[in-house]
Amino acid sequence: MVPVALLLWSAIRCAEISRWLALLPLPLIILFIVRAFGLMHECSHGSLFRSRWLNRKIGFVLGVLSGMPQYVWSQHHNYHHAHHGNWDKYRGPYTTLSVDEYAVLSRARQRFYRCKCSVAAVPLAGFIYLIFNPRFTWSKGSIGLLIHAVRQKLAQPHISFRTHVTSYRSRYWKSAREYRHILWNNIVLLSGCALMCWACARLRGLPNHACATAAMHDFYYVADEQRRDSGALAAHARLVGHELTLAPRGLGFRRQVGPAATGRSGSSSPDCFGRRQRA
Ligand SMILES: [Zn+2]
Repeated sequence: MVPVALLLWSAIRCAEISRWLALLPLPLIILFIVRAFGLMHECSHGSLFRSRWLNRKIGFVLGVLSGMPQYVWSQHHNYHHAHHGNWDKYRGPYTTLSVDEYAVLSRARQRFYRCKCSVAAVPLAGFIYLIFNPRFTWSKGSIGLLIHAVRQKLAQPHISFRTHVTSYRSRYWKSAREYRHILWNNIVLLSGCALMCWACARLRGLPNHACATAAMHDFYYVADEQRRDSGALAAHARLVGHELTLAPRGLGFRRQVGPAATGRSGSSSPDCFGRRQRA
């Protein structure tokens, strides 16, 4: 986890110089995440630690890192181990065909099957398996759960909402415990992604771009260090017929941007802080 965090941090720093440079640590990030997935697999078999508790907790963290709700995955994986090779029950995640089954397919479907099983399809398959599917099934299942609970509550208001929720059956989870794992995996993972986007935006100075956009709407944004002068700035804003808006403190605004920054105005004059404003 520490190497992944350091590599992600280095990618963000590289992105400050060039977006293409940020691709440099990507192969190592992928390798470490694949390793995390392997270790999550060991936790699912209870073999990474002697303690069951540690296998569960670290398995959850590694599941977040690799994008997979670990507990639910472990249930499916147990089925894989129990029935692997028994083609009547299990054909693997790719629904493997026998030679005879392949031979009776149309040429187009044979081509599709070959593409699906080729090495070139691995990135797309990885995206669908690790990134898209866990988020999609959680969203779709949660919406179904909500609609079911609300409908049932309206039809049978004397029964508790909790009872209606527990009566819901989904093809994506088999128990409340499985749903809790899917839910928390997604919440932690998406929060981590949002946090990293926020960190990237701060480092790349996106708030300043936001400033420039806001300036087009005749707002004044003020840097934290200039807040003490906001009374004078408000007076100036009123004078030139604009609105004063103080940027939230944590956003890292480093400069004041006025309407003149957009270049919309024909004439301009220095503002009360020495910057040029529309007259
Ligand atoms: Zn296994």
